[in-house]
Amino acid sequence: MNNLQIFVDFDGTISINDVTDEIFKIFGDHQNFITAFLNKEITIFDYWREFVRILPKNLDEYLLEFYKEQPIDPYFKEFVNYCKNLNIPITIVTDNFDFLIKKYFEFNQIEQLPYFSNTLLIENDKFVPEFTYANEGCGGFSAVCKRNIVLENTTDDQICIYIGDGFSDYAAAEVSDIIFAKSTLAKFCAENRLPHHNWKTFFDIRRILEKYISEKSFRKRHQSTIQRKWTYEKE
Ligand SMILES: [Mg+2]
Repeated sequence: MNNLQIFVDFDGTISINDVTDEIFKIFGDHQNFITAFLNKEITIFDYWREFVRILPKNLDEYLLEFYKEQPIDPYFKEFVNYCKNLNIPITIVTDNFDFLIKKYFEFNQIEQLPYFSNTLLIENDKFVPEFTYANEGCGGFSAVCKRNIVLENTTDDQICIYIGDGFSDYAAAEVSDIIFAKSTLAKFCAENRLPHHNWKTFFDIRRILEKYISEKSFRKRHQSTIQRKWTYEKE
């Protein structure tokens, strides 16, 4: 299955809750910052700088306790094995931070999948964010330009499958061929007439994927091809 590439969001997609929202709510003024961001009073970078500022000093130990209360999608592990057996690569694209992602995978005893995320640095005893994959053209909803990661890691003849739930996934979904969307992303797709599959758990995704595979019904989505070309011409 070398012509398939799967990209998966992390927060609210692999982890059932958005773990950054949960941490922000515990240690900071999440409500004010998310409202300011959605009202375009602050950028996504301001939002993440504040998130990093409020992180507890003993983050390592804290996460070990905190992750006990942050369930993973019950069918995700199975889904990873299923894709592995079929040689379908899975890449995680997340606006979360490397340290939090790695710890979550360790905690849930899942092999580390390739991922693209922001980077959490420690400088002078303080956490500092590094926006390793930022790109201005990405629409401002995500510090990691998930769209460019999708574009740069797929070839024109590959079918790109995108799985996500939130606003950080908008621009990446637009350039993908098959979209699995829930929550805010599903609403965005519906409003923008992006064909998508609704899903609740990775069981649903696997079931639909199996159908595509058995019927050999993968198609490049015409609009995503146009969107890709347009993106390249613009940059
Ligand atoms: Mg998400």
